[in-house]
Amino acid sequence: MKRKRNVKIVATLGPASSDYDTIRALHEAGADVFRLNMSHGSHDEIAARHKIIRQVETDLDSTIAILADLQGPKLRVGTFENGEEELVEGAFFRLDLEDKPGDATRVQLPHPEIFQALEDGASLLVNDGKIRLKVEKFGDDFADCTVIVGGTISNRKGVNVPDVLLPLAALSEKDRKDLEFVCDLGVDWLALSFVQRAADVEEARSLARGRAAVLSKVEKPSAVKSFDEILRASDGIMVARGDLGVELPVQNVPPIQKRLIRQCRAAAKPVIVATQMLESMIESPMPTRAEVSDVATAIYEGADAIMLSAESAAGDYPIEAVTTMNNVAEEVESDPTYTEIIEASRVAKRESVADGIVAAAREIAETTNIKAICCYTQSGTTALLVARERPRVPILALSSQIRTSRRLALSWGTQCVVTEELERFKNAVVNAARFARKLGYAGPEDQIVVTAGVPFNTTGTTNILRVAPCDERQIFNTDPE
Ligand code: PGA
Ligand code: MN
Repeated sequence: MKRKRNVKIVATLGPASSDYDTIRALHEAGADVFRLNMSHGSHDEIAARHKIIRQVETDLDSTIAILADLQGPKLRVGTFENGEEELVEGAFFRLDLEDKPGDATRVQLPHPEIFQALEDGASLLVNDGKIRLKVEKFGDDFADCTVIVGGTISNRKGVNVPDVLLPLAALSEKDRKDLEFVCDLGVDWLALSFVQRAADVEEARSLARGRAAVLSKVEKPSAVKSFDEILRASDGIMVARGDLGVELPVQNVPPIQKRLIRQCRAAAKPVIVATQMLESMIESPMPTRAEVSDVATAIYEGADAIMLSAESAAGDYPIEAVTTMNNVAEEVESDPTYTEIIEASRVAKRESVADGIVAAAREIAETTNIKAICCYTQSGTTALLVARERPRVPILALSSQIRTSRRLALSWGTQCVVTEELERFKNAVVNAARFARKLGYAGPEDQIVVTAGVPFNTTGTTNILRVAPCDERQIFNTDPE
């Protein structure tokens, strides 16, 4: 679907958005990527949503990416005899391995590996960080804590252990089953929660066996520390501000967001800014001014995509939330200051022929009356390099691989089309011009830039740049062979 903006929108699906009409309306309103959250929903529900998305894709002749978000090693307490307890500041509270209902003095934490990895004085955060416990004493099967910040603790609330590198497998039993299930269904991206080190990403990648691209959610201090290696091992990144803001002081999140976005662009890998972007729209048709400003900031910073969680999955105004993001994006991107910021932060990488070609394509497009950069891409790499340039004209990514097209739907500015396999460059130029006209980017009197790799259908060979007229007869007249 053609958009009047470059940043992409990711919408999480859930009970508020699981029927055909809503999913179609969300896509029409601006959602380019749908996120299936494996923490919620049965496999049947996930499969049903997946099927509807692919139906919408066919019905609207569009390209949609599906991102399956694996729950990861999320720690949770057990249950309470009374369902919940009030913990007061200064009180004693024990976490242990005993499989029996908790009370005001103790509860089960069914993760033996945590107790072995604890440190004296470590913080344990419960219920999105609302409750803070300090570890005073611990053994192989217990941790005695003092309540530093009190609050209500209830059944199966999440626990964060920010200060400790946890000896947890990156993927739980459930994650492995979910991964296999969604890869079989045919999703385009896998998101890994609570990644701590590059090896976590490599493990998921070997399980995915090329069926899906792998995106790391940065939501642990250890992921921030090892970010360079994690980025190298990943195909994309999510700044998962929800858990990140629990595990680190909230004021640390904005500078981390800025740094991660910049590094991802330099690496030509898509980055999503996620969580609480339009939180108030779960219940209100109007966002707060602060939320609008937050969405705008992520766009000015150069994020590839911005994301909705509960706003689209479980809120009262899923379509309005997407429309709001779309409107903010259109406005920001038409601001000359946006162009200035984005162009000033361009990284001039000249490590390969493809780097040089995409830079040249962007410059030629800028200095003449070129209407689009049309790039042929097998694996998607060339399109990612063009996107990194953040050109002022639309990027038309042409691929014979539908999987490549769908993955690219997450990246800044790429309009993806699936084309037949082409043998000759001249046909590729005609084909690109045809798509540029059909999608309304160029008229017959206009020109486009075409990049491709010859021989065709091999990855990593981008080696041709052609400025071509959009008029087919002229292409044949002006083409040298
Ligand atoms: P979640 O991840 O919504 O799966 O928790 C995003 C975040 O933590 O921000
Ligand atoms: Mn999270």
